[in-house]
This record gives sequence, structure tokens and C-alpha cells, in this order.
Amino acid sequence: MRAVVCVPGGTEVTDVPDPVPGVGEVVVAVEACGLCGSDVHAVAAGFARPGQILGHEFSGRIAETGRGVTGWQAGQAVAVNPLGSCGTCRACGGGVPFRCDAMPNLGISAPGAFAQFAAVPQAQLVALPDGLPVEVGAHAEPLAVALQAVSQAGAGPGDAVLVYGVGPIGLSVIMALRLAGVDAIVAAGRSAGRRAAAARVGAGVVIDTRQVGVTEYATQAGLRFTAAIECSGAPGSVAEALGLLEPGGSCVEVALTSEDAAVPLLRMVGDGLRLSGTCAFSNPAYEAAVGHLAAGRVPAADLISERVSLADTPAALVRLRAPGDLVKILTRPGQ
Ligand SMILES: [Zn+2]
Ligand SMILES: [Zn+2]
Repeated sequence: MRAVVCVPGGTEVTDVPDPVPGVGEVVVAVEACGLCGSDVHAVAAGFARPGQILGHEFSGRIAETGRGVTGWQAGQAVAVNPLGSCGTCRACGGGVPFRCDAMPNLGISAPGAFAQFAAVPQAQLVALPDGLPVEVGAHAEPLAVALQAVSQAGAGPGDAVLVYGVGPIGLSVIMALRLAGVDAIVAAGRSAGRRAAAARVGAGVVIDTRQVGVTEYATQAGLRFTAAIECSGAPGSVAEALGLLEPGGSCVEVALTSEDAAVPLLRMVGDGLRLSGTCAFSNPAYEAAVGHLAAGRVPAADLISERVSLADTPAALVRLRAPGDLVKILTRPGQ
């Protein structure tokens, strides 16, 4: 099959052996796979080992079933939870199944979906309903990240929430906040195209941080936030977000960044603020994400800037290093 594999300094399209389904696994013919900031970062920073096939936000149709697979047939449309979990180890029991050592994560520690086919354990499949474009399932992974972040923030109806950063995850967080019944959403970002997308998917106020700071805006508006979901990784953003919370508020960091953040400890302790991080999700959050997409409750298709072929995927991964107005790029291996 054709696949995008990591090579020193980047990625290239090449022929690799077709995956063979192991016991309890199926092979999925990949229909769509989102290009994620973490893929871009892994390639740019040289974290991905040579030969690795990235791509963890995907959907497709079952092409082949292995021994021991029950309840799944060739031709079925599925979204794939890339995170493997055994369900019994300390990490799985502790609510961080993505750190499970017993099961790899597809597109991260096992071959992913920037390829025509991917082998997937049956426990990681979620069926997509007939009639839904299969491509829609590729949004389930980032939406699941966002649902997990919103639930960790404890945000709900009546709350005012700051979304710092309006890349694909920030935009998914806005959609997840709307699903949680949050109406007062203030988003902050730099790119004009991404800020327009933030308004389209449900942010009531979108601040251009090149024009006005978040603190300046909140001070002028006399606003304090119940929660802040920090998706930018920008220097100083965690401290700024914590400084804008009301007592008892919660800041959730979602950006995978090597930035060190200084936090205002006096406010944190004195006002009982919470700061936590998350980059992944539980199995129920992934299933909930598929449910929301299948029911048409989120405008996920509005986030797609481009669809590219496998052949054009290496160049798209490079373009996303400086995304500008680009939001989501999907690779369509069947094209
Ligand atoms: Zn991702
Ligand atoms: Zn485990």
C-alpha cells in the first residue's frame, strides 16, 4: 500500500507492506485522516522515528477482519479511537488510558492512518451510521480531546469561559462548550481566518490578540471567567488565564508545549483556583464525540480548509508549520 512515512527531516510517500489483521483486529481502508498539530510537531522536532506512519484522527471502512473479531463486517463505516487501553493497568484505572503501556496508540506509537490501510483492534472501533459521510468520523478524535477538556474544566450552563487559542483544538473546544450548554464564550487568537471560524462555531466574542490583550478586554468588560481552556501554548498565557478566573475557577491546559509557565501562586491558593492538563480522552468521551457528529450537533465540516491526497500530505505537513488561516487539513488516501 501507499503510506506517508517519517524520514529524517520530514516525511515521504512510499510503498510499504499491507497491514495484516492480528487476532481481534480489523484492517480499515482509511477514508479520511486529519493532520494534527502533534503530527506537524513530531515531524518538525524529529520526535517521530524513521519509518513511522503518523495520523491518528481517522475514519474509514472495514476492509478485512482478523480471527476472533465479532460483530464487525467488511464494508462497515467506522471511526477509530486511536488510543489503545487495556482497561486494567494503573494508567487505565487512573483515568489516563492513553498512557497505558500494554496497548499502543495508533499513529503515535503504532502505525497510523496517513496510509491506505491501518490495522485496528476491534475494541477501538465505533460504528458510523449509514448515510453519514464517512469523512465526518475523522473529527471525532479532536472533538473527544475537547469534550475531555471541557469536562475537566467543569464548565456548564451559566458559566463564562475563555478559550485561549483558536487552532483546531481551540475551535473544537468552542463546539464542546456549546454542547455543554455554555453560552458566554470568549475566544482569543491571532489568525483572522481562525478567528472567523471561532465565531462560526459558537464563540460570542472573538478577540484579536494582535489588537487587544485578553486581560485588557476582560478588564474593560468587567469580566471574570469560571473557566479558561488554554489551547495556544503562548508564553504567559497560563498565568494570564489564571489571573482572569473568578474564585474557584479552573484553567485547563490543552496545548502540547515545552513552554514553562509561571503561575500566580498567591491567587491560585487564595482563590482556590485549579490548573490541570489534558491532551487525550477516555473511551466514553470518544464515543460521545462520534454520537455528537453522527447527530449533526456540531459544525465540524466548517473546520475543513483543504482535502489533500496522500501524495500531497508531506507538503501539507510542512505548510501547517506556519498555518496562518489554515484550520483543518484532511488527507484522503483514496483520492
Ligand atoms: Zn490530534
Ligand atoms: Zn492499560
